[in-house]
Amino acid sequence: MKLNVVCVYCGSSPGNDPVFTEVAADLGRLLAHGGTDIVYGGSSWGMMGAVADAALEAGGRVIGILPRGLASKEKAHPGLSEMHLVDSMHERKALMEKMSDGFVALPGGLGTLEELCEVTTWAQLGIHQKPIGLCNVAGYFDGFLSFLDHAVAKGFLSADHRRLILTENQPQALVDAMERFEPFVDKIWLDESEI
Ligand code: AMP
Repeated sequence: MKLNVVCVYCGSSPGNDPVFTEVAADLGRLLAHGGTDIVYGGSSWGMMGAVADAALEAGGRVIGILPRGLASKEKAHPGLSEMHLVDSMHERKALMEKMSDGFVALPGGLGTLEELCEVTTWAQLGIHQKPIGLCNVAGYFDGFLSFLDHAVAKGFLSADHRRLILTENQPQALVDAMERFEPFVDKIWLDESEI
C-alpha cells in the first residue's frame, strides 16, 4: 500500500559519522520524490534537520510536531510546511502516530528508541496496524536487533511481534518493505482513547 504520510523518528544529534546524516537526507529526498509527506519532531538539528532539509529542498511536505514548552530549546525548524505545537510529549507522540500511515526509525538515541518501542508496543496491542521500519544504517542498530532476538529466546517477546519491526540497511529497500507490509496483529485489546 502506498504510504501517504510517514513519521520519521531519529536523533536530535547527527552522530559522529557523516553516513548517518547522508542516509537521513536520502530518506527525506526519497519520500519527497515519492509524494509522501513527512511527520517528525520538528527540530532543525541533527538527523531530524537532515531529513527535513533534504525533503523540503526536494519539494516535499514536512510537518513538525513540537511540545510548546520546548519550541525554543529544541531549535524548531523555521521552514516547515506545517508546525503543530502541542501541550506535552504524550500529545506529540499520539499526534505523530495519528497523522501517519507508517513509521521509520533512523539512528538516534533514547528519544528515538523510546518512540520506536512505543509505536511497536501499540502495534503489538493492536492499537494500530501500520508498518514500522528500522533503517539499520552502517549496522548502528545491530546490538538492539540482537537484544530483540534475545528477548524472543528468553520468552519475553513473541516471534510474531518481533516481526513487526521491518529492518533494512537503506531507505529504498525499507520503504518498499513497508509498502508490502500486511498487518497480522488483530485489533483486539485497546483503542487509542485507552492508551
Ligand atoms: P534522541 O534520539 O534522544 O536524540 O531523540 C530524538 C527523538 O525524540 C526525535 O524523534 C524527536 O521526536 C524527539 N526529540 C528529542 N529531542 C528533540 C529535539 N531537540 N527536538 C525535537 N524532537 C526531539
